[in-house]
Amino acid sequence: MLFQLILVASFLASTLAVPTPHDSYDDHSHNVRKALPDTWYQPRDHPVHTLFKRAPGDGTNYPAVGSPEWSAGYPTNAPDPNTLPAAWVVALNAAVAAGKIPNVPQSSNVPNENPVYPNGLNPNGPTVCSATYKCRIPGDIWDSPDGIFASSFDDGPSPLTPQLVDFLGGQNDTTTHFMIGTNILYYPTQFLSAFNAGHDIAVHTWTHPYMTTLSSLQIVGELGYTMKLIHDSTGGRVPRYWRPPYGDSDMRVRSIALEVFGLQTVVWNQDSEDWAGTPASIESALTKFLALPKTPGLIILEHEIASVTVNAFITAYPQIQAAGWKFMSLAKAVNNGATYQNAQSSTSDDVVKADIILGLSSTSSMSTSSTLTPTSSSTTSSSATTGTSSPTSTTTNQNLAPTTTPTSSGAALRATRILTLCGILSTAIFLFS
Ligand SMILES: [Zn+2]
Ligand SMILES: [Zn+2]
Repeated sequence: MLFQLILVASFLASTLAVPTPHDSYDDHSHNVRKALPDTWYQPRDHPVHTLFKRAPGDGTNYPAVGSPEWSAGYPTNAPDPNTLPAAWVVALNAAVAAGKIPNVPQSSNVPNENPVYPNGLNPNGPTVCSATYKCRIPGDIWDSPDGIFASSFDDGPSPLTPQLVDFLGGQNDTTTHFMIGTNILYYPTQFLSAFNAGHDIAVHTWTHPYMTTLSSLQIVGELGYTMKLIHDSTGGRVPRYWRPPYGDSDMRVRSIALEVFGLQTVVWNQDSEDWAGTPASIESALTKFLALPKTPGLIILEHEIASVTVNAFITAYPQIQAAGWKFMSLAKAVNNGATYQNAQSSTSDDVVKADIILGLSSTSSMSTSSTLTPTSSSTTSSSATTGTSSPTSTTTNQNLAPTTTPTSSGAALRATRILTLCGILSTAIFLFS
């Protein structure tokens, strides 16, 4: 009943919403596709309902963020596509069988260049429509509504996150954080500084790869673990938005995000290049963007990974309003302003837990059983001490191929075994519920 009420409320809200983003800055030609339904919630038969479903006996007591129980069960490196939770694989296979995932071949990384597709396949053609090549797929978000500075920051959480959150708090503003899953594992306190301040949390993959170079199962792993960790760290909120690292997405990747996890793809229409910039160069870029016409609204790529990127934003912030822009967190500026698939915001008390709860939440209760209790060292701390992994940073490899995947630690292997078992059980729950 509550769910239906929220649907009605959201429909009413959407009819009053700001104008939808448009495409006037398009600098390419492409085939127009049928637009997706303009609803924020997922249809009842969408797999996200079963992937995020309450398990029998689930008291929805999530482990404390930062605790060993919280981080247990997550890979510390790129997820192994052979040990994904079975329910995720089932959902992918069902979407493929239903013809919902276009059969686009994987691209290849070329050092210092954009990924390339085999057999000369045109990245700007309707089959691929690569966001790296600025091909816009209808339903993906590139622009914000007119006059809106739709703010977001990528690659957090990081040690810089609290500074950014504190600054915006002093302005009574928030932003949208496209977070890297492994960085949430490394910086739980900084994660909470953003979430508890009411900032919007979105997905930026588990290990920040070029997504079009990955297999479909690898894509499911990169999105799924990040979805699950955010879900379990926000009182059961299911993320609604994701941004592809390097802006690298295409028809296959965005369809997996949407059809398996209900995620809408968000790119940007201006790039501050702050990750490689100096205070002067970033300032210059931001000043230039603020002088642009108010149509379309701005979505500027910015990062919360270094003092220079955060300080450049703070320095430029007064100019945003002075130039006539309305500053808003991106997630609140687009669509109907609901940040999550099952909740309005990070602070709202409307989370629809009973309907959309990750089946793998049973991990938390399972990890308390004697046979599956992880050792006292969390996956995070064990990998940190052995040096097999480090917080994902993209300050130096924006245009480079990702480094090869380090070998898995014992903790990671143990974790994947636990997750595999959980996946089998959650599939059973899925099949018999
Ligand atoms: Zn277009
Ligand atoms: Zn990034």
